[in-house]
Amino acid sequence: QATLVAPNKDPYPDWKAGDPVPYAALCTTFSKIEMTTKRLEIMAHCSVFLRQVLRLTPEDLLDTILLMINKLAADYMGIELGIGESLIMKAIGETTGRSLQVIKADQQEIGDLGLVAAKSRGTQPTMFKPKPLTVRGVRKGLMDIATVEGQGAQGRKVAGIKKLLAAADAHLLGKGSKGIDITTDKGGPSEAKFIIRTLEGKLRLGLAEKTVLVSVAQAFVVHEIMQKDGKPPSTEQLAKGETVLKSVYSELPSYEVIIPAMLEHGIFNLRENCKLQPGVPLKPMLAKPTKSITEVLDRFDAKDFTCEYKYDGERAQIHFVAHDSTQSYGSTVPAVGKSDKGIANVFSRNSEDLSKKYPDILARLPSWIKPDIKSFVMDCETVAWDVDEKKVLPFQQLMTRKRKDVKAEDVKVKVCVFAFDLLFLNGEAIVSKPFRERRELLHSSFVEVEGEFAFAKFDNTRELDGIQILLEDSVKASCEGLMVKMLDGPESYYEPSRRSQNWLKVKKDYLAGVGDSLDLVVLGAYYGRGKRTSVYGAFLLACYNTTTQSYETVCNIGTGFSEEVLTMLHEKLKGIVIDKPKPFYEHSTGNKDQPDVWFEPRYVWEVKTADLTLSPRYRAAASVVDGGGKGISLRFPRFIKERDDKKPDEATTHRAVADMYQRQESVTKNKGPSVDDDF
Ligand code: ATP
Repeated sequence: QATLVAPNKDPYPDWKAGDPVPYAALCTTFSKIEMTTKRLEIMAHCSVFLRQVLRLTPEDLLDTILLMINKLAADYMGIELGIGESLIMKAIGETTGRSLQVIKADQQEIGDLGLVAAKSRGTQPTMFKPKPLTVRGVRKGLMDIATVEGQGAQGRKVAGIKKLLAAADAHLLGKGSKGIDITTDKGGPSEAKFIIRTLEGKLRLGLAEKTVLVSVAQAFVVHEIMQKDGKPPSTEQLAKGETVLKSVYSELPSYEVIIPAMLEHGIFNLRENCKLQPGVPLKPMLAKPTKSITEVLDRFDAKDFTCEYKYDGERAQIHFVAHDSTQSYGSTVPAVGKSDKGIANVFSRNSEDLSKKYPDILARLPSWIKPDIKSFVMDCETVAWDVDEKKVLPFQQLMTRKRKDVKAEDVKVKVCVFAFDLLFLNGEAIVSKPFRERRELLHSSFVEVEGEFAFAKFDNTRELDGIQILLEDSVKASCEGLMVKMLDGPESYYEPSRRSQNWLKVKKDYLAGVGDSLDLVVLGAYYGRGKRTSVYGAFLLACYNTTTQSYETVCNIGTGFSEEVLTMLHEKLKGIVIDKPKPFYEHSTGNKDQPDVWFEPRYVWEVKTADLTLSPRYRAAASVVDGGGKGISLRFPRFIKERDDKKPDEATTHRAVADMYQRQESVTKNKGPSVDDDF
């Protein structure tokens, strides 16, 4: 703990108590983080800095944390960075008086716009010295850039970037600093470099969001205990603080709500003061894949469990507060879905606000709610519905719905909501009640309306035969298979944001295969041959390494595409071609392994595979598996569909790929796939 406490002196000469946090001080911390790959060291740098902010300028803590996780607001606010390269290059050129051509040439050579900006900026004094940047000023500037809309928006974005860049590194000007060495990317912090990377939406520091969360907890614990006891906290106190913050954040993933509450009540009282709140979407609980029904029986042993249909649609979290309720609605969320009865929103699996996509759901919602229900958060799946046949339609139908500004009366693809869990009811979070009880509350709080709202079909049978029949029935009803869930005790509590052992999924089509499909990012393509010469015929795909924030190649794919799909993909992808691979692409450099074109990391595709193997041509999970430097690759990969609901950094992780590989290895070595479940 000593390392977490050490700098009780002022860390940065121009930063006195009450002053806005200098952006340069944050960049110094970023640089220290950049120099190491050790997670504990990274965490210590973060928490020491956050503690300084707490000590000197607590009102800037929220802005500091958001810049550390490279976000401007909680996910559901829908405010995104990720400004395009061309705008950034234009702004760099105009700020530094260098031509666009020179900037482009530099970008070709260096491959990192952050460093290009640092190089262009230099440390030359200018006519007048701009005021140094502050953390709060940078966040405000970024917010203005991200939210400007309408006519002339591009120009105003460029102007906003220029304003930030012009003031970047002002503290170094004329002080004889050599600034950053762009060949090594080392040599002191460069505000210009980090501003540009922030704008691009990738800080590339190896600073995972989870690490920042733990650092925030550490900073608070150290700060509070030092103030109270005058000595560093114990390991137990640090661990307790971490547990509190992690559990609160998983229910209420919004620093905007949590930080003010922590400043007011202290970290150890946070649980009582900060709870799941309608209006603030929580990260959903996810399931682990299983290979066979016998595996389910083995895993759940003698415990009571239930099997539900796994509907194939879009995950939706519905939040509602009635007008006559005393329960407050998450204050930062834009008010959508107002009805006579109350206010509601539909959120996606990624906490995106889908209310404008589903006005039909919001319009009908009041008729499903029993009169005594004043507030709730419900977990469900929206599924395309065939009104004539009265049955579920395939997922592809749902995908044809418009995503924005849908008018309820224009909706062509009707949806039915299948509810499977209840997380909050009448002012109370119920995530820590057993699932059996939550389900009872769900069933007693709502009424089914044919073709609009239904409870997920289930059976609590524990017999192998019974489960197999249910699985077959679910498939006949156009579902993907079953979700198997614990019913009683703490193991059945809802675990936000976790892929839990207590939720298992059994999909019809992987009982004999590898387990689950993968969601992979398209990094490159190869021109087609024969009939396919005018489009891309094969693609290079990658998984995502959340620790290094890089994309690790995992296969080439050319199977599973119809001619129409290839044409459509070519149209989409040709707009995001880049000159060379991004520095955060981990790929083989062998000559014959290079795709014909490289892409920005934007699209995620679902892919199935026959099995996984080690290969020197791919980099997936090479740092995790013991493969003598080889990565994992997919054999016989087949394209299933686009996953528009996933962002590239939500692709299957390198760890999940390693897990699949290791599980497959142990299955083939120990027992082979189980034959009786193969139907
Ligand atoms: P998949 O591609 O298999 O949907 P995923 O990563 O999106 O994978 P998983 O955790 O693997 O999500 O599977 C759970 C998903 O299944 C949920 O996110 C939800 O959208 C859907 N689902 C359908 N029916 C149910 C149900 N009865 N209970 C829980 N989730 C269900």
